[in-house]
Amino acid sequence: MKVCVVGSGGREHALATVLRRHHEVVVTPGNPGIPGSVDTPATAIDADLHVIGPEAPLVAGLADELRAAGRLVFGPGADGARLEGSKAWMKQVLVDAGVPTARHGTFTEAAPAFAFLDTLDGLYVVKTDGLAAGKGVLVTTDLAEAREAVTEYLSGEAFGDAGRTLVLEEGLTGPELSILAVCDGARAVPLAPAQDFKRVGDGDAGPNTGGMGAYSPVPVAGDDVVSMVMDDAVAPTLAALRSMGIDYRGVLYAGLMLTPAGPKMLEYNVRFGDPETQVVLPRLTSDLGQLLAAAAAGALDAPPTFDDGAAVTVVCAADGYPRDVRTGDPIEGIAAAEAVEGVSVFCAGVGAGPDGGLVTAGGRVLAVTGQGTDLASARERAYNAVGHISWPGMHHRNDIASAAVADTTDGGNRR
Ligand code: AMP
Repeated sequence: MKVCVVGSGGREHALATVLRRHHEVVVTPGNPGIPGSVDTPATAIDADLHVIGPEAPLVAGLADELRAAGRLVFGPGADGARLEGSKAWMKQVLVDAGVPTARHGTFTEAAPAFAFLDTLDGLYVVKTDGLAAGKGVLVTTDLAEAREAVTEYLSGEAFGDAGRTLVLEEGLTGPELSILAVCDGARAVPLAPAQDFKRVGDGDAGPNTGGMGAYSPVPVAGDDVVSMVMDDAVAPTLAALRSMGIDYRGVLYAGLMLTPAGPKMLEYNVRFGDPETQVVLPRLTSDLGQLLAAAAAGALDAPPTFDDGAAVTVVCAADGYPRDVRTGDPIEGIAAAEAVEGVSVFCAGVGAGPDGGLVTAGGRVLAVTGQGTDLASARERAYNAVGHISWPGMHHRNDIASAAVADTTDGGNRR
């Protein structure tokens, strides 16, 4: 089968790498670090299957356009992608489907928003309704900061139109979990669970990012938790979408918090997570192309299978990320990193340098994935490989999967 992957980040590099185990793959537009990258637009590529990576083209209706042209497409249409395009609508779908989620309100005016903040219990969450590249969420214990964010979001100053409608939520606490479900419109099968790290600094310090690392499997997410999420959240959501006439064929990415009162849905994304994809897909032992083509055709049958090992990915970010990013710094050491056993380097924000090498071209530059028999060995390999990579101002977290490794080595009593 010839597969066309749409997108240009580390997620698309991982998708292409794992699809290529069984199929021919092109990536559009890709980047200079992803083999098989082409400039041709997706609509002009003749492929047996199109797989759309990022949310923006999904929200903009690329899947609809390709389907209208007779293509087999993995990725929801604009109607389903609205789950990610509008957090206010997503929250309404959750409530209608009876899926447990944080108490919330949707606002376009400051006065009622401030009044809602006053009803919350000391942990305030302010979100843009629209897409904000993973950065439109503030979680704070400081009421003044939350009020300031409300003002900035609503004025359009912080996130343009994406923030002129905002969602306020009660803050939840507990470990987070991502479950990526592959859906064929009616049925869904889960991929291996993963956990990602949103904050830029060690110990969850600093601002939110698009994701600084991830690991899989997740010790706190046994089969019972996965089944509960599939039965109590994903299945009713798919059914609610169907009842609205939405034929959802793609990834439904459930971002959950395992609160003391049980799992609660923080959000849905409508595509593979980045960097979760860089740990989940390398562990796949079945044929990814076959799975995605079956879902795209509305005919999911056999669930995917995964190895018994583990994967840890560490994102190496450019100077200044997630604020003012400096680009153009020459990247050293990718080959040495990939020479470490069990390691793959996935290229995200990279560009071609003047001397033919790669330079930084975005905030999250590389995702360095280590695989091993368990989380400890996967983590060791990932960090060993990261040690070979450098550019001026490069930074990464040092604690990706460290708590999970401690959990699995001390009987699972810690978080
Ligand atoms: P979202 O884009 O909605 O997933 O939010 C990004 C991140 O913000 C999540 O991964 C959580 O770490 C955090 N977050 C979102 N909603 C809440 C909430 N209600 N309570 C606590 N943290 C939250």
